[in-house]
Amino acid sequence: MKILLSDAFDPSLPDLLRKYGEVTSNKDDAAEADVILVRSKTKCTKEYIDQAKKVRLIIRGGVGLDNIDVKYAQEKGIEVHNTADASSIAVAELAFAMMIAVPNRLVEADISMKEGKWLKKELKRTELFGKTLGVIGCGKIGTEVAKRAQAFGMNVIGYDPTVDVHDIITIKVTIDEVYRDADYLTLHTPLTEKTLGMINKETIAKMKNGVVIINTGRGKCVIEQDVVDALNSGKIAFYCNDVWYSDPPESTPFLKAKNTLLTPHIGASTNENLLRIGKAVDRIIGKFVGNYNQRII
Ligand code: NAD
Repeated sequence: MKILLSDAFDPSLPDLLRKYGEVTSNKDDAAEADVILVRSKTKCTKEYIDQAKKVRLIIRGGVGLDNIDVKYAQEKGIEVHNTADASSIAVAELAFAMMIAVPNRLVEADISMKEGKWLKKELKRTELFGKTLGVIGCGKIGTEVAKRAQAFGMNVIGYDPTVDVHDIITIKVTIDEVYRDADYLTLHTPLTEKTLGMINKETIAKMKNGVVIINTGRGKCVIEQDVVDALNSGKIAFYCNDVWYSDPPESTPFLKAKNTLLTPHIGASTNENLLRIGKAVDRIIGKFVGNYNQRII
C-alpha cells in the first residue's frame, strides 16, 4: 500500500505509518497512492481525484472537508475522513488568546514599546471578568472556549440550532439574543448556506456598541467590508481573525483596517495537535486496512 502525505504533517507521521506500506511526500506520486493525506493546501477537486487513479481512502487532517469534493469521491467508492476531534483544544486556545489580548491591549503595548513610546497612561485595560461571551456554534471548539471563559468569570451565552441545553453555555432560543447581549462574540460554525455571510451589516446592527468579535471558524461566515465599516464607525471595537476567504487571502480590507488582530490560519497549528492528528490518521488507516482485509477474506 502506498500512502501519500500531500501536505505538512508532524515529522513523526511517516515512521508511524510505515507499518502499512510505503510512505511518500512526493506530490507527483498521487496517481500511484492508495491513501492520500491532506490538510488545507491540497484541493481534492474532481480533476485531482480523477488523476489519483488508485486512491481508496482520503483523510483530511483537520476539522471540516471544505477542500475535498466528498460527493464525487464517494461516487467513485473512495472513503473520506477527517480528524474532527483532534483540533478543538488548539483552536479554542487561539480564540481565547485573542480574546485575552484585546482588553489587555497586548498588541498596541508591544508595538508602542518597540517604537520607543511609553504609553503607561494611555493603555487603559479592561477585564474579561463579568463580561458576556456569546458563542455562535456550541460544538466541540465552542465548548472548549466556553470552559476557558467560565474560568475567567465570564457569563457565557450561545446559539446553536442543534443544541437546546448545554452544561456551561446558556443557550438562547434565537441568535439575535446573543447578538444583543454579547460583549465578546466568538464564531465556531462550519461554512454552510446558513452561516455564509452571517456577520454582515444587518446582523452587526443588532449587536452591542463596542462588541469584540473573534473569528476562528470560517472566513466566509463574515462580510469583511461590513466588519471594516463597523470598525471605522466604532460599532465593533475590535475584530480578531484567523480564517480567510482563501489561504492566503488574495485581497482583504482587514490588512489596512484599524483595531484588528490577524493570524494566518494557525488555529490548528500546535505541535500537540499535529501529534493528535497523526494518531487519529493512524487509527483511521488501521480501521480501513482491517475492513479491507476482512472484505478480501
Ligand atoms: P462541531 O461540529 O463540533 O461544532 C460546530 C457547531 O456549529 C455544531 O454544533 C453546529 O450545530 C453549529 N452550527 C451549524 N450551523 C450553525 C448556525 N447557523 N448557527 C449556529 N451554530 C451553527 O465543530 P468544531 O470542531 O467545534 O469546529 C467548528 C468550526 O471551527 C469548524 O467547522 C471549522 O469551520 C472551524 N475550524 C477552524 C480551525 C482553524 O484553524 N481556525 C480549525 C478547526 C476548525
